[in-house]
Amino acid sequence: MSRLNEVKQRNTFEARYEKLYTLGKGNFGKVYLAEDRKSGQQYAVKVVDKKLFKSGDQKQHAQREQMICETFASGLNHKHIAQVHEVLTENDSIYVVMEYVEGGELFDKIKQSKGLAEPTARRWFRELIEAVEYIHDHNIVHRDLKPENVLIDKTQSIKLCDFGFGNVVREQHEVLSTYCGSPFYAAPEMVTATPYRGPPVDLWSCGVILYAMLTGSLPFQGDEMPQLFQKISRGQYTIPSYVTRDASDLIQRLLCRDASERITAKDCLLHPWLMPPTMTRCSLFTSSQLTLSSRLTNFSNRKKVGVFSEGSSLSMTTLHESTAKATSLHTTVCSTLTSEKKLMRTSRFFKRIFKKKSQVAPLMDHHDEKRLIKSRFIGRFKGFFKSSFQKRIT
Ligand code: ATP
Ligand code: MG
Repeated sequence: MSRLNEVKQRNTFEARYEKLYTLGKGNFGKVYLAEDRKSGQQYAVKVVDKKLFKSGDQKQHAQREQMICETFASGLNHKHIAQVHEVLTENDSIYVVMEYVEGGELFDKIKQSKGLAEPTARRWFRELIEAVEYIHDHNIVHRDLKPENVLIDKTQSIKLCDFGFGNVVREQHEVLSTYCGSPFYAAPEMVTATPYRGPPVDLWSCGVILYAMLTGSLPFQGDEMPQLFQKISRGQYTIPSYVTRDASDLIQRLLCRDASERITAKDCLLHPWLMPPTMTRCSLFTSSQLTLSSRLTNFSNRKKVGVFSEGSSLSMTTLHESTAKATSLHTTVCSTLTSEKKLMRTSRFFKRIFKKKSQVAPLMDHHDEKRLIKSRFIGRFKGFFKSSFQKRIT
């Protein structure tokens, strides 16, 4: 045997790793737990069988996954993404050697407990969005975000995996036209076969994941595909009344039919539901947090679009779109506070309590200020208002 062949044989996957058992099975191969024969280190190895590719599309699918995994292996690294150790290509197979994530799939956690407790959901969802923000910042889109592709490690943190439908976009606004991923998590622009931008499609899927985390069910369901696609394209879903106000607000911003209005990963991390409690509670009143207040104000300026409950349409507007609308929404939210007068009284009451209005004033116009004071008020009496608000949106 020539020296070159000898070296090649020593470097084959089988020579270097021992497969222990199967962790998961996919369309184009299996994921195994494997052990490095030299170091004894355990890895998860995705073995993609090239012989199973029947069409050009399938070949492209594997090439993309290989390219993204190689990109990760050669330097991209995030604490909430399963780290790729190396990618080996042989005649019939591609081996993606990854960090082994021991705790199983988010899917099973949701299924076991029929939904997660809110603090767990919040922590895992924040970690997921951090991972999504990281890939989007590196012009990578996942396009198959679902609880089966989100793993839990032994420290109870999440690790995103499976870049099989991933793609590298040249820039954030590049338009894509491959329709892929699981139909239950697919965005309206995907199911209506409209050319789409990658990042918003991932954020929609995150909205479905968040809904699943909090309710243990999927927002869009249907026995037949056309029925399911119709519900998705119409944005036809309801949020159960026990989901808290901030969490339902975030779900609505993620499950926003208009991709250009859909919340981004960056803005998502600034959403009140995901911010550490100290930041949301104190942001108005310390000078070091004025920047944060202004960012929150900008964030709240983003338009919230209509949410349709089955059969009838229910229009939701941002609280400060106009005084009239704000007042009417406030009225629906707080059945006990029915007039604009009461709202103004509340706002004066809080101004008096905090007496720091002048610090904040330059950043806000009249409506913003009213809205912030109001949201602070509502936040403090969340439990009290929650039930009537939730009844409105379900
Ligand atoms: P494709 O959609 O490209 O066919 P797939 O869904 O078959 O991919 P993955 O999602 O990458 O492949 O892996 C399948 C399953 O294997 C996962 O859902 C998970 O249970 C398990 N798995 C994948 N990667 C790891 C890992 N790094 N550590 C532990 N288990 C893993
Ligand atoms: Mg998968």
